[in-house]
Amino acid sequence: MSTERTYIMLKPDCVRRGLMGEVISRIERKGFQITAAKMMRLDEDILRIHYAHLVDKPFFPELVAYMTSGPVLAMIVEGEGVIDGMRRLMGKTKYEEAQAGTIRGDFATSTTENIIHGSDGPETAEAEIRRFFGPEA
Ligand code: UDP
Ligand code: MG
Repeated sequence: MSTERTYIMLKPDCVRRGLMGEVISRIERKGFQITAAKMMRLDEDILRIHYAHLVDKPFFPELVAYMTSGPVLAMIVEGEGVIDGMRRLMGKTKYEEAQAGTIRGDFATSTTENIIHGSDGPETAEAEIRRFFGPEA
């Protein structure tokens, strides 16, 4: 393992339900560092890029409606093995598979409304950091 960085985003349901503090606490208690954070609103254009692997899925319009329903908290998180480490803290994508004790297992209300985004590998992490924080990040 090595020190890495990843792109984490607290989604609109997390902000709306007042769960940002809870989720940030879990990230901090694990020992990861939040090195950048900003509230932002997403539009369909950026979501078509960010979720390019999903644009043809039947649920994509629902995903856009959800992700544009309110502000998100965009973050860069750093630490030893943080990319996989955050995916473990987050839990599985599928609602039925997200285990209790994980962020999604404890707080997601459906496969779509699942509280948190985290990059799935080193290349996507760097691309997503640039996408949301700009080329200098
Ligand atoms: N998603 C959905 N239905 C699905 C799969 C995914 O609504 O059947 C949404 C969900 O919000 C998920 C996001 O699309 O977090 C991105 O999907 P991906 O497969 O990349 O999962 P993730 O990397 O977020 O675990
Ligand atoms: Mg993904």
